[in-house]
Amino acid sequence: MDEPVNGPLIVGAGPVGAVCALALQQQGIAARVLEAMPADARTDTRTLALSYGSRLILDRLGVWDRIEAVTPITRIHISQRGALGMARLSADEVKVPALGYVLPYATLTVALKQALADAAIAVDYGVAVARIESGATCATLHPEAGEALTAPLVVVADGGRSGKGKLMPAAPEPKFARDYDQTAVVCDVQTELPHANQAYERFTPEGPAALLPSGERYALVWSASDADAQRIAALPDAAFLDALYRHFGGRQGRFVAASPRKTFPLKLAYTGSEASERVVRIGNAAQTLHPVAGQGFNIGLRDAWELANLCGDTPLAALGSPAMLAAYARGRRLDVMGGVGFTDFLVRVFSNDIAPLRHARGLGLLALEVFPPLKTFVARRMIFGARG
Ligand SMILES: Cc1cc2nc3c(=O)[nH]c(=O)nc-3n(C[C@H](O)[C@H](O)[C@H](O)COP(=O)(O)OP(=O)(O)OC[C@H]3O[C@@H](n4cnc5c(N)ncnc54)[C@H](O)[C@@H]3O)c2cc1C
Repeated sequence: MDEPVNGPLIVGAGPVGAVCALALQQQGIAARVLEAMPADARTDTRTLALSYGSRLILDRLGVWDRIEAVTPITRIHISQRGALGMARLSADEVKVPALGYVLPYATLTVALKQALADAAIAVDYGVAVARIESGATCATLHPEAGEALTAPLVVVADGGRSGKGKLMPAAPEPKFARDYDQTAVVCDVQTELPHANQAYERFTPEGPAALLPSGERYALVWSASDADAQRIAALPDAAFLDALYRHFGGRQGRFVAASPRKTFPLKLAYTGSEASERVVRIGNAAQTLHPVAGQGFNIGLRDAWELANLCGDTPLAALGSPAMLAAYARGRRLDVMGGVGFTDFLVRVFSNDIAPLRHARGLGLLALEVFPPLKTFVARRMIFGARG
């Protein structure tokens, strides 16, 4: 016998699923979350760049003050290798306390886990959902083991991992996908000079490289072709630090130490929120972006926030109805497509060595540097997203 649940069921207690559950509770709606990993699982070592807008969401949920080890970014330096043109953005110019924040994924998930527990939100850890059955009035979740659960709305926040066959039916085919033939090499690096909360974004024909201040060190995201990235990641420390210096330049002095390197493929997949009746996809399950503009995670948090607000505005009987899900998809389109388009534009226009484009890029960066309204527009767009 399926167990009926009145509030939504959420698949995945990653940052997006957890924020959705907390925001729903603020709307007076009790959700239940199913998370494949056990409660005491060690989460991965990725570093997240949170926008100031995301901080405001976490603030409103009472999570921000619980997060330890956050490093603010107060200045960003943007340049392209081997060509003129650079731009600098500062928090003062945009009149925000910080342009963004850098924090370990694990730190955020620990704070969210605690917030979920304190709010008495039901989270079933170690329960992997194997199958979703959707219907006209409700959807049913079938865990790999244990009882099925039924609810008028199922929120899929599984980080897009259903493509690996963990969740059936598999995610719909992306409406828009691009393989950049780029892989990111990520690790922490120590530079000769202290970071003073300055981030760097450096565009090169092989792909962008970013240094994000993180604690006393920098978190490095170095994009290169798939083959080059594997070669770079396998270099011994000294050779890796030299290669990074040649690639990045000496603005921070020499690179003196690096943690073990990891790689991850960089792709664009826009699947969208619509899946099947009574089912909505949010966060990385709906869109996976190249990290060049730090947009993916922040869009995911806004997905969770906006969905919860819409649920709060919807009569209980209409929760998860086709009309509600269509309204959600409509409401998110501008913000999501703006982020997808902006990120795709940056990767494609900057990851090449075509001379006219190189000059145009230089002019673009110069315009950004000398034209304050443009600077403010770009910075605010990255911080708050595009709202309709
Ligand atoms: C290496 C790396 C670096 C990144 N760096 C940045 C960055 O600097 N800035 C940025 O904005 N974004 C970055 N991103 C993207 C960012 O990590 C994602 O946008 C973010 O984690 C998405 O959150 P999510 O909650 O949607 O998915 P996830 O964080 O993937 O969480 C999904 C959760 O669902 C659970 N789950 C999966 N399948 C099931 C199932 N069948 N049943 C139950 N539970 C399930 C998983 O265990 C997991 O806990 C990076 C991504 C990677 C891979």
